[in-house]
Amino acid sequence: MNQQTQAPFIRTVTGDIPPDQVGVCYAHEHLIIDAGFATHANPDFLLDDVAKCVAELQEVFDLGVRTMVDSMPMACGRNVLKLADVSKRSGMQILCPTGIHLSKYYPPGHWSTRLDEETLSQHFVSEITDGIDANDGNGPHWQASSHRAGLIKVAGGLDRLDDQQRVTFKAAAQAHVITGAPILTHTEQGTAAMEQLELLRDHGVDLKHVVLSHLDRKSDVAYHRDVLQSGVCLEYDSAFRWKVDQVADNPTMQLLTALLADFPDQLMLGMDAARRSYWKQYGGKPGLHFLYQTWVSQMQQVGISDQHIQRLFIDNPAQAYRFCPNKEDDTSCQ
Ligand SMILES: [Zn+2]
Repeated sequence: MNQQTQAPFIRTVTGDIPPDQVGVCYAHEHLIIDAGFATHANPDFLLDDVAKCVAELQEVFDLGVRTMVDSMPMACGRNVLKLADVSKRSGMQILCPTGIHLSKYYPPGHWSTRLDEETLSQHFVSEITDGIDANDGNGPHWQASSHRAGLIKVAGGLDRLDDQQRVTFKAAAQAHVITGAPILTHTEQGTAAMEQLELLRDHGVDLKHVVLSHLDRKSDVAYHRDVLQSGVCLEYDSAFRWKVDQVADNPTMQLLTALLADFPDQLMLGMDAARRSYWKQYGGKPGLHFLYQTWVSQMQQVGISDQHIQRLFIDNPAQAYRFCPNKEDDTSCQ
């Protein structure tokens, strides 16, 4: 294959698709979380039921949503076989990441906290190019499944990155440079965005392939402006979490109304609903349909245009989550 002419694509668990087939996209979700260390610590995180997931997604699919970005990286409850099954049964296109989460989601001394950046990066590259480990990094050996990772997910801490987080970010940058895979990061309460993006940029990553998550948990417009000036994309997912009487007082809405005019190509939306208590199918609320139903009508109420809504849900995810294999000639990804 000629690398020079390879067109940009989005890598889902069931295959690669052209960016214009992404459609309406939820940019940061948790569709399956299997039992393990993290769910023992907090049973509300357990989202292991394929049938419930299919039912929850079908309702959202019927509203017109076509793609979801799962954001559970290696060895903390990810299950790509279940995600592929959910995708086939619901019709929803699903991206699944490689990468490493915060150390609090792993047992003390877990291998992910001990590997150097070179070895971690090799694991990431292998899940992107060969297939996600069918044993989810839990051993006893690695076995590439037939489902490949569509992004690299790494996580930073509150207000700063610790040494181990810096290692995982550098490994992500290395794997991005080799594969062209997009990078999605976790920010803790929206903080330390500058340190995250500077570290990635210093290690060769073009920031238009980077999405920082949860920034709306820090609802400071000036801070968001500074971060957006770098060219990075931001994902907001707290719309349903704020308790406010008036929609216009919702901090996520205030950020959108303040920033969309100047940065229409760099913002996207998700729910990050990683709890049973947020899912209708597990008896919780508001349910995954909230974002593309209630929130869209609330955005329209406050005067956000349909063009901006289309950027948030369709154009921007299709841009940010594409692979750009032609590193020397990156004009296809402008
Ligand atoms: Zn998340």
